[in-house]
Amino acid sequence: MSSPKRALITGITGQDGSYLAELLLEQGYEVHGMVRRASTEKFDRIEHLRDRITLHQGDLLDQRSLVDTLRASAPEEIYNLAAMSFVALSWVQPTLTADFTGVGVTRMLEAVREAAPEARFYQASSSEMFGKVREVPQNEETPLYPRSPYGVAKVYGHFITINYRESYDLHATSGILFNHESPRRGLEFVTRKITWHAAAIKHGLRDELALGNLDAKRDWGYAKDYVQAMWLMLQQDTPEDFVIATGQTNTVRECVEVAFDEAGLGDWERYVRIDPRFVRPAEVDLLIGDPTKAKERLGWVPETTFEELIRLMTRADLALLAP
Ligand code: NDP
Ligand code: GDP
Repeated sequence: MSSPKRALITGITGQDGSYLAELLLEQGYEVHGMVRRASTEKFDRIEHLRDRITLHQGDLLDQRSLVDTLRASAPEEIYNLAAMSFVALSWVQPTLTADFTGVGVTRMLEAVREAAPEARFYQASSSEMFGKVREVPQNEETPLYPRSPYGVAKVYGHFITINYRESYDLHATSGILFNHESPRRGLEFVTRKITWHAAAIKHGLRDELALGNLDAKRDWGYAKDYVQAMWLMLQQDTPEDFVIATGQTNTVRECVEVAFDEAGLGDWERYVRIDPRFVRPAEVDLLIGDPTKAKERLGWVPETTFEELIRLMTRADLALLAP
C-alpha cells in the first residue's frame, strides 16, 4: 500500500481551513495544520477533527517557525490560507495587514524554497484585488485595482506567488476566489452578520440589525464548494491561476431579504438600521466572476446557489441560537 499524501494548511482554524481539512481527510490525506499561539485556544471550527490532524505552532510573521513547520510536516501540498482576512479592519490595521496578508506570503514562499521546494503551493488570492470595476464579469485577465489595504496586500501576495513560480520554478498556484460563505463564516462578515441577526431577532435576543452599504454587489458562493476548487488546482501538473466564482451577483439588500424571509420575520425594513460606522472609506461596488476557465480545465462547477446558501446559513443560525 502506498503511504498517504501529506498536506499542510496554514489558517486551518479559519472557515476555509476547516472545510479543506475535512475534504483532504476524506481523500485519505495526512493533514497538518499551522496554528498560532493565543492565551486561550480557539479551535472551534476544527475541534471535531483534532484527533485526526497534526498541529504545528507557527506564525506568518516568524520565518523560523514557517521553516520548522514545513520540515516537521514534509508536505507534498501546501495551502496558504492564513491571513488577516477582514477588509474593514484593514483600514484600522493597515501595516499589520500588509505584513500578514502581503509579506507573509513571501515568508511562506521562502520557507518553501528552503524546506519543501518540491511541494505544490496554493495561495489564497481574492476578488477584492479587482476592486474598482474595470470589466464585468471579472476573469483571470481582468486588470487589478484594489480598493482597500487588504486588497493591496492580496495583490502583493498574488504577484509574489507568480514571481516565485517564474523565478524558482516552484509549483505555485493562485486561486482568485470570490466571496464564499458558510455557517462557519466569521460573524463580522456581512452574510453571517445578517443570518445571525435574523436568527437572534427571531428568538428575541436582538431587536435590530445595523448595516452599512446595502447596494454593494457580491458574487457569493458556498465555502464547501470552493475548497474543492483549491484541491483541484493543486492536482494540475502545470501551475496556473484560476478565478473561482458562481457568475451571479446579488446585493447586500437581497441577502437581508432572503435571510429575514427564511427566519419568518416578514418585512425586514422594520429591523434594519443604516449605521455610517459600517460604511467603508472606499467601496468595491460590484463583483461578479467568470469561472469559465475553472469549469473547462478543472471540471469545477459551484453546486450551491446564493439563495440556497443564505437559507442554509440562516437555518444553521436559527438552530445555533435556539433557546
Ligand atoms: P478566516 O479569517 O476565517 O481564517 C483566517 C486564518 O488565518 C485563521 O486560521 C487565522 O488564525 C489565520 N491567521 C491569521 N493571521 C495569522 C498569522 N499571523 N499567522 C498564522 N495564522 C494566521 O478566513 P477564510 O477561511 O474565510 O479565508 C481563507 C483565506 O482565503 C484568507 O487568506 C482570505 O483572505 C482568503 N479569501 C477568503 C475569501 C472568502 O470569501 N472567505 C475570498 C477570497 C480570499 P486564528 O484562528 O489564529 O485567527
Ligand atoms: P468583503 O467583500 O470581503 O469586504 O466581505 P464583507 O462581507 O465584509 O462585505 C461585503 C459587502 O457588504 C461590502 O461591500 C460591505 O461594504 C457591505 N456591507 C454593508 N454593511 C456591512 C456590515 O455591516 N458589515 C460588513 N462586513 N459589510 C457590510
